[in-house]
Amino acid sequence: MGIQTSGKSTLGQQLATDLEIPRIVIGDFLRERAKVHDELGRAIAARVRAGKLADEAVVVQALATRLADAREGFVLDGFPRSGAQVKTLDAMLERLGVKLSAAVLLRLSEADARQRLANRLICETCKGSTTVLFANDGGQCPVADCTGTLTHRPDDRAPTTVDNRLAEFRELTMPVVAEYRASGRLIEIDVSGGTLPASGELRAAVAALGRS
Ligand SMILES: [Zn+2]
Repeated sequence: MGIQTSGKSTLGQQLATDLEIPRIVIGDFLRERAKVHDELGRAIAARVRAGKLADEAVVVQALATRLADAREGFVLDGFPRSGAQVKTLDAMLERLGVKLSAAVLLRLSEADARQRLANRLICETCKGSTTVLFANDGGQCPVADCTGTLTHRPDDRAPTTVDNRLAEFRELTMPVVAEYRASGRLIEIDVSGGTLPASGELRAAVAALGRS
């Protein structure tokens, strides 16, 4: 879990690669699952079209089948999205005989997230992000072999959109954080300094949590 620009996706990807386990991003997973021509696929597709991706019963059903194939481990991103879904996930994992090692929160203040969004440049070609501290608007992407142009995403600088995204995080995610904190499964990492922990550090924190 982490507010926009906290580095949640990057760290999740690193961890999944290092541990050789899948990273399941709920939104991406549901969009892919919607393409499968079966009853569940059609049910998800109908909700995607209606803009109701978060319809709980469908999400839970689809996720349960996905997690059944990932009992050796997974990094889950984008679920649970409410305190009630924490319990839903726990029940799902209990049926699969899987123990959730930890929930991870990357801590970053809203002020810092706003600053990072304002400074963020996205490559039009590879979609990679960088910041105005290291590159210029209209400049060339720093990624090797990419000749794309860097630009601000309009969304990142529109005050209402930014407000909505930060409010959504506060309202949806903070109850989930509270639930995991109360059950002693939360690892909090301060990322305000601008560097993400190495995934080895995170794994050590997860191991320490299991011993406590
Ligand atoms: Zn690029």
